[in-house]
Amino acid sequence: MSTTLTESPYRPDDALFRQVVPAGDPFMKRISKGQTLRILDLEGNQAVDTLFYSADDPEERYSANDTIRNQGNIYLTTGSKLLSNAGNVMLEITADTCGRHDTLGGACSAESNTMRYDLDKRHMHSCRDSFIMALAEWDHGMSKRDLASNINFFMNVPVTPDGGLTFEDGISAPGRYVEMRAEMDVLVLISNCPQLNNPCNAYNPTPVEVLVWD
Ligand SMILES: [Zn+2]
Repeated sequence: MSTTLTESPYRPDDALFRQVVPAGDPFMKRISKGQTLRILDLEGNQAVDTLFYSADDPEERYSANDTIRNQGNIYLTTGSKLLSNAGNVMLEITADTCGRHDTLGGACSAESNTMRYDLDKRHMHSCRDSFIMALAEWDHGMSKRDLASNINFFMNVPVTPDGGLTFEDGISAPGRYVEMRAEMDVLVLISNCPQLNNPCNAYNPTPVEVLVWD
């Protein structure tokens, strides 16, 4: 898979839905089959932790394992098909002006803040907490049991030749975006990462914008 950057033909003025998601906030929305979802990195180097569920049956959800095995690559970019745990294509990435998105780094949590940084970071707001809060607000019986390995859009987690994971400075920039077409009705669950301790966010979490076209 190449990392050629692909621009979208869609214009923000024509979007049927636009919402800015402030740094540290969660976001959840149903996206219908055939609609296109864009996540726009407004200020650059933001990590956007994202999960997808089948809207009809949330037991069917984005599977990092199936997605990676199917495409034979650990990074996501244009042409990547996001597969479910049932092997179905949920969405396909159709445009990408960043070039690489992480499938392995997972979401930050109170526990990982403590492990990676310091005991006094435990109370700090995390993506895992944001996911759980959004699922509770969604109020369809989903809970922390529904959390699986997430995508980190715009996050740069290169794997070394001997298999090591490294969290590096972001490769995104203001105005870069990733766009995907839904191949089934899906729920998108986003935590716009509040992490203050990680170079992926340049230690400064910033807002993103979500746009949807028919
Ligand atoms: Zn996070």
